[in-house]
Amino acid sequence: MKSKIVGLALAGSLAIPAFSAQFITIGTGGVTGVYYPTGGAICRMVNKLRKTAHIRCSVESTGGSVYNVNTIKAGELDFGISQSDTAYQAYHGIGKFKGKPIKELRSVMAIYPELLTLVVRKDSGIKKLTDIKGKRINIDTPGSGTRMTTEIVMHAVGLKDSDLALADEMKSSEAPSLLKDNKIDGYFAVFGHPTANIKDAANSVAIDLIPIKGPAIQKLFKKYPYYAPGVISGAFYKGVNHDTPSIGVKAVLVTSTKIPEKVVYTVTKAILDNFAAFKKLHPAYKTITKKSLLDGLSIPQHPGAIKAFKEAGLLK
Ligand code: GLU
Repeated sequence: MKSKIVGLALAGSLAIPAFSAQFITIGTGGVTGVYYPTGGAICRMVNKLRKTAHIRCSVESTGGSVYNVNTIKAGELDFGISQSDTAYQAYHGIGKFKGKPIKELRSVMAIYPELLTLVVRKDSGIKKLTDIKGKRINIDTPGSGTRMTTEIVMHAVGLKDSDLALADEMKSSEAPSLLKDNKIDGYFAVFGHPTANIKDAANSVAIDLIPIKGPAIQKLFKKYPYYAPGVISGAFYKGVNHDTPSIGVKAVLVTSTKIPEKVVYTVTKAILDNFAAFKKLHPAYKTITKKSLLDGLSIPQHPGAIKAFKEAGLLK
């Protein structure tokens, strides 16, 4: 966290700092996803308090969950948004984080549900998940949570990257134009819905969304507490006229034990106190409640967040 003295320097006199403002940065995702506007929504609430809380909040567009938790560990981000499965694996040092646990990682709140989404060109011939065999599919960058969940799900149904004709590793923000230009047949993305990213795709080429379901997926729900079934409404995207079942996680605001209690308390309280206004800032928040912010945290909560939730009567 950068702490900078912001003061009024009077010409010819000693500059006496008016106050010391703390600058916090939230790591998000691609600009057309939901993390990026969510970071913006959080900062908007926090920056409203700048006169009293002296915190200046800004957002950074990043590759997504894996990048965010690793960069929090490195001390270069104060907060980040992470999928609950990524946060869990990072904290416990399993999967992609094997031997590299991020023990200082803490949750603040589990904001909204996200679903693994397989977006395909309607003319790709892909009708079910296993049809991606031999197709050109974008599986996102190694820094994304999408990549992590996609690999878990592909593995669960017995598919490997090498079963694809092309396993492209482009950022999710680039996937819609690759799809339109017929450079890929489909792409995976873990998103809250609706998202501008898939609207962009649907408005430029005929798309479909493929159900992620079946016995192998049911097993994942049983095995991992942070995976839950969900449905992408058929009403969200042009040309997709059916509901699409899939596997869901939560988009969790995370931070580090190194961030002071007061800062995390202020951020948490800013959202809880302005919850009705916050909810209006993105359609993906439609079903969330103050109470649901505590569902699916997947890792221990920061003391500053616990304090704010207790004060709001939401935690005992
Ligand atoms: N869940 C995605 C990831 O971590 C990012 C989603 C978004 O940017 O809204 O890869």
